[in-house]
Amino acid sequence: PLEIGFDAPLLIDGDAVWTAGEIVSVDPGDPERVICRAGRAGADEADLALATAESAQARWASTPAVERVAVLRRAAALMRERRWSLAAHEVFEAGKPWAEADADVCEAIDYLEYYGRHALRLAHGAEVEQAPGEANRYAYAARGVGVAITPWNFPLAIPTGMVAGPLAAGNAMVLKPAEQAPGMSYELVNLLLEAGLPPGVLAYLPGVGEEVGRYLVEHPAVSFVNFTGSRAVALDIVERASVHRDGQGQVKRIVAEMGGKNAIIVDDDADVDVAVPAVVTSAFGYAGQKCSACSRLIVLDAVFDETLDRLVGAARLLRIGHARDMATQVPPLIDEDALRRLHEYREVAGSEGEVVLARDDVPDGGYYVGPTVVVTEPGSRVSRDEIFGPLLTVHRVPDFDAAIEVANAGEYGLTGGVFSRSPTRIRRAAEALRVGNLYVNRPITGAVVGRQPFGGLRLSGVGSKAGGPDYLLQVVEPRVISENTIRQGFAPLDE
Ligand code: NAD
Repeated sequence: PLEIGFDAPLLIDGDAVWTAGEIVSVDPGDPERVICRAGRAGADEADLALATAESAQARWASTPAVERVAVLRRAAALMRERRWSLAAHEVFEAGKPWAEADADVCEAIDYLEYYGRHALRLAHGAEVEQAPGEANRYAYAARGVGVAITPWNFPLAIPTGMVAGPLAAGNAMVLKPAEQAPGMSYELVNLLLEAGLPPGVLAYLPGVGEEVGRYLVEHPAVSFVNFTGSRAVALDIVERASVHRDGQGQVKRIVAEMGGKNAIIVDDDADVDVAVPAVVTSAFGYAGQKCSACSRLIVLDAVFDETLDRLVGAARLLRIGHARDMATQVPPLIDEDALRRLHEYREVAGSEGEVVLARDDVPDGGYYVGPTVVVTEPGSRVSRDEIFGPLLTVHRVPDFDAAIEVANAGEYGLTGGVFSRSPTRIRRAAEALRVGNLYVNRPITGAVVGRQPFGGLRLSGVGSKAGGPDYLLQVVEPRVISENTIRQGFAPLDE
C-alpha cells in the first residue's frame, strides 16, 4: 500500500503526468499531516486525456461485455484484498471514522459487482415485438467519452460507482476527483489499471473544479457528465453543458446527484427509544457530512419535550475525536472552509431560534465542531440551507399533516424518515413525502447498493438512482436494427 504523504500525478493512458501546480490533501484531524500531493490538471492535460479517451473508446466498446465486466470483478477482488489499507487512507484523507470508512470501501466493491451484472444484462438488449418476415433487435451502445466529477465525502465509493457503471457499458471516462480527497481516486484508478483496464479508457485528472472541471464540462468531445456534489455546481454544469460548441457531435447528457436538507418526522405514537438513537446517527454520524444526513427533526407536540430531552442527552455523550480512534462518533469537518461555515451558521442559529445544545468540548488542532441542536421555525435560514455539518434544527408541529407540510418545504428532496407505529400514517408519509429515499423506523443514512438505490428528486438530483436498475441506461444509447428476413438469397461469398 501507498505510504501516507504519497504523490498522485495525473494518469493519462496509464502514464504519470507531472504538473507544475499541485493539490495537497491533509488529515482534517491534524492538518499538518499531508496525505497526498496530487497534480493539478489544466486545459492541456484535459485535452490530452480526452483525445486519448476518444481514441481508446471504440475498441473498449467492441470488447465483449463479459471481458469488460471481468476487469471490474478483478478490481473488486483487489479491493477486498486491500480493504483495510484503503479504509485506513480514507480515515486520514477524509476524516471518516473506521466503521464508515470500511463501509465506503464495501460500497465501492458493491458498485463494481452490481454494475458489472447490470452491464451483462444490457448486453442482451431489450425485448421488442417481432412480425413474420422481419427480425427486430433492440441493442444498447456506449455513448462515448464521459466525465465523472466527484465529491469528497464518499471518497472511494462514489468515484468507483461513477466510473465503473459507464466503463462497464463500454464508455471511456475521465475522472476529476474533489480537491479534498484526490488520493483515494488515485488509488482507484491504479487499482482498475492493475485489474486489466486498458489504460486509455480511464484518465485520472485531479484539479480545481472551476478550472479543469469547468473545462471538461464545456469540452466538445464529452458526451456525458456524471456529477455528484452541491446544487450550485450541478446547476452551473447543467447550464454550461447545454451550450453546443464547435465540433460537438452530440447533445451532452447530465446525471447530477445533488445536496439535501433531509427531515425526519417523529409521530406522536413513535417509540422514542428507537427514534432518538436513529436520529443521532443520521444527524451526527460523520459529523453530518453525508448528503443523506438528517438536518431537520420534526416532532409532534405530544412527544416533543420527551424527544428533545433525550436527543440532547444522547448528543451530549457522543465521542468527538480523530477518525482513527475506534470510539469516535463525530470526527472533524473536512476543511477550514467547512469549519468557518459551521461557525457562521451557529451564530445564525442563535439569532433565529433557541440553541439547546452547542458542544465546544472538541480536540485541538483539527477542523472540529461539536454537535449543535437548535429549536427554530420551519422558515428559518438554518432550516433551509444545506449546512453540511453536525447542526440539527428541531421543529414542533401540532399534528401529522403539519409534519408532512414542514418536511416538504424547501427545494430539496433527497432522503426523509418517519418514526411511527401507525400503518395508516406510514402509508400517508410514503405517498406524501417528496423525497427520493424514504426510510421508516430506521436511520436515514447508509443506503446499500442494489437494496436502497440512491438519489434525490427536485433540486436534489436529476437522473436515475445510483446502485439501481436504471442507472446504466443513462450512459448508453439504444439502437434498433430491423431486418427483412424474407428469403431473398444471400450472396454466396459472404465473408
Ligand atoms: P462541490 O459541489 O463543491 O464539488 C463537487 C465536485 O465539483 C468537485 O470535484 C469540485 O472540484 C467540482 N467543481 C466545483 N466547481 C465546479 C465547476 N464550476 N465546474 C465543474 N466542476 C466543479 O461538492 P463537495 O463539497 O465535494 O461535496 C458536498 C456536496 O455533495 C453536498 O452538497 C452533498 O449533499 C453533495 N453530495 C450529494 C450526493 C448524492 O448522492 N446526492 C452524494 C454525496 C455528496
